[in-house]
Amino acid sequence: MALRLYNTMSSQVEEFHPLRDREVRMYACGPTVYDYGHIGNFRTFIAVDLLQRFLRQSGYKVHYVMNITDLDDKIIRNAARDNVSVQQYTAKYEKAFLEDAAMIGIEQPKLVRATEHIAQMADFVAKLVEKGIAYRTDDGSYYFRIAKFPRYGKLSKKDFSGMLDGARVDVDEYDKDSARDFALWKAPKPGEASWDTSIGPGRPGWHLECSVMSMQELGESFDLHAGGEDLVFPHHENEIAQSESLTGKTFARFWFHVRFLLVEGEKMSKSLGNFYTLRDLVLKGHKPSSIRYLLTSVPYRNQLNFTFDGLKQAAVSVERLRGFRQRLTAGSLPSGSNPEMRSLASETVDRMRGALDDDLNTAQAQAAIFEMVRSANSAIDAGGLKADDVPPLLAALEKFDEIFAVLKDDDGPKIKQVFDWAPTEGRDQDISAGLREAVQSGQLSDAGIEKKIAEMQAARGARDFKASDTLRAELTAAGILIENTKDGVRWRRK
Ligand code: AMP
Ligand code: ZN
Repeated sequence: MALRLYNTMSSQVEEFHPLRDREVRMYACGPTVYDYGHIGNFRTFIAVDLLQRFLRQSGYKVHYVMNITDLDDKIIRNAARDNVSVQQYTAKYEKAFLEDAAMIGIEQPKLVRATEHIAQMADFVAKLVEKGIAYRTDDGSYYFRIAKFPRYGKLSKKDFSGMLDGARVDVDEYDKDSARDFALWKAPKPGEASWDTSIGPGRPGWHLECSVMSMQELGESFDLHAGGEDLVFPHHENEIAQSESLTGKTFARFWFHVRFLLVEGEKMSKSLGNFYTLRDLVLKGHKPSSIRYLLTSVPYRNQLNFTFDGLKQAAVSVERLRGFRQRLTAGSLPSGSNPEMRSLASETVDRMRGALDDDLNTAQAQAAIFEMVRSANSAIDAGGLKADDVPPLLAALEKFDEIFAVLKDDDGPKIKQVFDWAPTEGRDQDISAGLREAVQSGQLSDAGIEKKIAEMQAARGARDFKASDTLRAELTAAGILIENTKDGVRWRRK
């Protein structure tokens, strides 16, 4: 069965077939690097990461390009305010974005930066002027004449006919309901960064950046263009207008938009006090794997409301999956095989694929793996799961994790990295000293816990009960619950 995806352009779920056989070319609008990434940004980036992972799992070769918006009105303004160059201003946020993305399990796309394509952007404007689609104003700015692109509004389904009044707008964000000639290129402002180019000095508009970089990397027509739902209008509408009026070809065929994340039922905003960067949550002691799990627990087009209760639940879910894997590999199962367990594994793989093929229904894919874990756990308890059933069940977990990427036991080092960073930023952290110590000493990493448990068992084996009691007390103090079962020691976090 083929992947079916919702296409904002057709307002329908369609079968996804790339233009080239078995090869997908896709582009996502990346971060504007003027601040640390918040969890809403990461809902979108993780959704696109999940899509590209699933395409690869489905056998496609994927060319996935993301831009870094290291040049826009806010960046230029902030850099001027701080009296630093644009590059100096954005460097630390770009670095933080890359660290955060890696921390939350995003596989790095090919990255392209706006500041590295300014000459190509100026050439693009020159071609639009030649075609009579763009015009220059007295101050040396260039605008896109939307009256020249009758299909303007086709993505956002806004009807602009009769409203094409030629009025201009020269900021990157503007009134969502009016059709205005938008700035392709902005003349220099005193005290702000500008570049000398073939069309004169100035700086590119944000919309132009994405058109130029995506077509340069992926060609004039490519398969899929992604971003958060706020980008439909005007950003993506303007990208389409510029690109298609220049090439005469369809720009991107599929438009993939991720619904905005709500936090505690509201739109995230600094003034409401419900605004969290990824780093804020990690500093509060939440694991990247729990955050990633939560952000993928609702399909990308449905409303996801982030709550701390939900985050706790997500942590429990991840621990359950990890605990199950540990149970499978503990090596104490009876020999032989049970055909029911084999079919359970293969049915689960089919169900996960079917769910993801269905417009990336992540909730159902997660439900499928949990049903497998429940049945297999009961089978273990009843002696019905045999040693030879382990590989197919592990393979199903592996297939799940190729997409969801939460099972690797590396939260400890990732959290530590953020704790190491935070003091230099002088951030106000509401975290307990105990937690900080535990993280910094590496005790919270799964590997660290397992090492201590192994030491404890070794001490007990050697009848050194004093040593084993001390180790147990240390683990308990670090919030680890240890359980002795007939299959050996199991643990989980309290
Ligand atoms: P920005 O850094 O503001 O350019 O945004 C980067 C990406 O995050 C864009 O695709 C935005 O549409 C997306 N985005 C911003 N806020 C949210 C949110 N609350 N929920 C989901 N995606 C968001
Ligand atoms: Zn863009």
